[in-house]
This record gives sequence, structure tokens and C-alpha cells, in this order.
Amino acid sequence: MKRNEDLIVGIDCGGTNMKMAVIASTGEILSAKIAPIRYDQSPEKVIQKMAQNLKDFLKGSKFKKVRGVGIGIAGDTDQTQGIIRFSPNLNWKNVPFQRIFSHWIEIPVLVDNDANCAAWGAYILDAKKDCRNLICLTLGTGIGGGLILNSKLYRGATGSAGEIGHMTIQYQGHPCACGSFGCAESFIGSGGLIRSAEEGLKKGLAPVLQKLVGRSPKTTIEPKLLSLAAEKGDPYCQQLWKDAGEQLGVVLANCVNIFNPERIVLCGGVSKAGNLILEPALHTLGRRAFAIPAQTVKVTISQYDEKLGVVGAGLLFLEESHHY
Ligand SMILES: [Zn+2]
Repeated sequence: MKRNEDLIVGIDCGGTNMKMAVIASTGEILSAKIAPIRYDQSPEKVIQKMAQNLKDFLKGSKFKKVRGVGIGIAGDTDQTQGIIRFSPNLNWKNVPFQRIFSHWIEIPVLVDNDANCAAWGAYILDAKKDCRNLICLTLGTGIGGGLILNSKLYRGATGSAGEIGHMTIQYQGHPCACGSFGCAESFIGSGGLIRSAEEGLKKGLAPVLQKLVGRSPKTTIEPKLLSLAAEKGDPYCQQLWKDAGEQLGVVLANCVNIFNPERIVLCGGVSKAGNLILEPALHTLGRRAFAIPAQTVKVTISQYDEKLGVVGAGLLFLEESHHY
């Protein structure tokens, strides 16, 4: 029987739901639940609902008392004050998350950027702490980044470090939600990939994808469908993944030249394209980064995609719990 004071909760807040899990200090998930969450209300209401979801989850589990909770959420976060300073995806500015959350449920809280949490999760689950420098990239609607440097999560001067998705890869490129232009996210985030796919469909260049989409406008075009079309021989989708892989490779090469990590772990929906994106990415990485760091780094797609964020959030709380 695990002692309750050793247990923590990890929460991963996504765009449409929140994943919650009671976690042992080893990273083992003891109980988990997913609850829907909507962001179309005021941040106060949204956070109150999140706290209520956590209360309901703990009430329904056999773990009534936990040591604290780590929460990962998209945005630029001030972890010391528990404030979400800026979240372009949620349209939040200076939201005192920790204060509101703690008002509804009295429990020590760490709030951090979701990609930082995923990076800590990847460091423990994928890398088993068997390296000192690891970069994690979450490839989804947005692209998040987290840096583990010298075995510690690196946050930078204001807690904002690791915004790898907003690395400019084309300085005159598309405007991005962050206010900049030509960010990696606007190309290889799922929104960018879907935009390219729709252009191909409009021009009649993607026959296999067209067949998969059918005549129903209701079929949602998502990265999974683009992978399927490429595997079935659609030339446009094959090229789309090759381009995305090369763009990802540019990002990886920049990261390798700057940080010289032992590991880069990729996760998120877009990473499920597997070799369609990984092969051209590795090829580009090899051509662009300095030779020795490029040969040294091991780039993998996470084995633990679904739980990186939630386990990482909980274990990050534990790692830093002397602050709480
Ligand atoms: Zn950006």
C-alpha cells in the first residue's frame, strides 16, 4: 500500500479536455481520468471548473489525500507566482491560475508550461534520466519545447525558455499567433499541415487524399489522415511530409547546434507520422548541424506519448516541491 503523502497528482490541460492522474513518486499512474474542459468562459470560471473536476476525481478514487498537484498548460508561465502571463492559444493574459485554483481546492500547486512538463516526463520515462541534456518537442496544434540542461528543467530568466515552436524558420513567413512571422509552428504545427493539404485538395493535386476525404465536407482533415494518404501513395501528401520533415530538421539542427543535447524526444499527434517525418528530419539534421553533435544526438519518437504531460507535471511538482 502506497503511503498517501508520497502521492501527487499530475494534470495536463489540453484544448478540449484535462487529463488527471494520481501518480507515485516512481512515475507509476495509480488512477487516471479525463474530463472535458471548455475555454469559452472567463478564466476564473474555467479554472474553478478544473478544480471541481480534480475534486470529483479524487473523491471517486481511493486516494483522498495527495501531497500536491503539478499542472501543465499551454502558455508563457511565471511558475514562481503561478501566473499564466500569455497564452495565445487560450487567449489568456496575466491569469493568476494558482491563486484561483487554490481558492477552490486547498492543495499545493505548481503551474508550468505544458511542454516543460512533457519534457520532464520524457526525461524520466523515455530517457530514464540516462543523460544530462534532453530536448522535448511536442508536435501538435502548437509546437512546444522543453529543455532539460544539466539534469534540470531550464526555465531561463523569466520562466519562458524553450519556445522552440516559435523559432523563426522563414523570416518573411506567415504571421503567427505569437505576433512573430514564419515560426516553425506555422509550418509544422497541425494547422499549417492542414492548410497545405487543403490547398492541394483545392488544386486537385491530392487524388488519394481526396478519395479519403470523400465528398463529405464533414470529414476532418487531420495529420493522421495525411499520413494515411501518403502511405497509400498520394504524391502531394508524400511531398507534404517530406517538406514538414525538412522543416523539422532545420529546427532540430538549430537546437543541436545551440544545446548539443544527447537526446531529442518528439511527441504529439504530428509525431505519429513516424518515419514519414522523422527520416527527412534526420537527413536534414545531418546535413545542417555540426558533425559531432549531430552524430551524438539520439532523436526518437516518445514511447509514452499519451502520458508524458500528465506524469511530467506531477513529477515536476515532486522534483521542486521544496518550494511549496
Ligand atoms: Zn510564433
